Amino acid sequence: MHPLRAYIGIGSNLDDPLAQVRAALQALAALPASQLSTCSPLYRSVPVGGPPGQPDYLNAVAALDTRLSADQLLRALQAIEAAQGRVRELRWGPRTLDLDLLLYADLVRDDAWLTLPHPRLQERAFVLYPLHDIAPGLELPGGGMLSKLLLKCPPQGLERLDSPTIAGTIKPPVPTP
Ligand code: ATP
Ligand code: CA
Ligand code: CA
Repeated sequence: MHPLRAYIGIGSNLDDPLAQVRAALQALAALPASQLSTCSPLYRSVPVGGPPGQPDYLNAVAALDTRLSADQLLRALQAIEAAQGRVRELRWGPRTLDLDLLLYADLVRDDAWLTLPHPRLQERAFVLYPLHDIAPGLELPGGGMLSKLLLKCPPQGLERLDSPTIAGTIKPPVPTP
């Protein structure tokens, strides 16, 4: 099987979000049968939904080329969340790490365990803007051009941080014998 391109939304608003995002990228780079291709700049976003008064989020989108199936990849993402102390309490409540599978090649599917493309992708500036940074010409399966979706999505208080891309700080995983 050829590797397929997956896009992963990363979010954190607890316990040193910058360190959480860095650790998540490190973990993505170490996934089996996968290569971390690139990561967007970091963004700060105002929480949408969930309980009032939670801290702002740090967000980014990563591109991963992978031979894992979509189901294997989602399980791996959930394992990374758990390893970084993700506790599921309130819906859209604060979290150390949220990894959403935004797109997996051009797969379209609709079940509760895994819906692709991610069902709320089109309405979220904190997903569309960083995704557009790393894949400006992207066409969503059944959903049109990313650049057009972006035009219809106000920035919602999103702020791009002046940090250089953090993907360059990620060390390649140590090869296993
Ligand atoms: P949102 O889905 O609105 O971003 P959330 O990220 O806070 O909210 P979670 O509690 O992380 O929601 O996930 C709830 C469930 O969503 C997970 O158990 C997972 O099985 C399911 N799910 C469905 N489609 C996807 C997807 N594309 N990526 C990640 N999880 C998904
Ligand atoms: Ca999410
Ligand atoms: Ca999630």
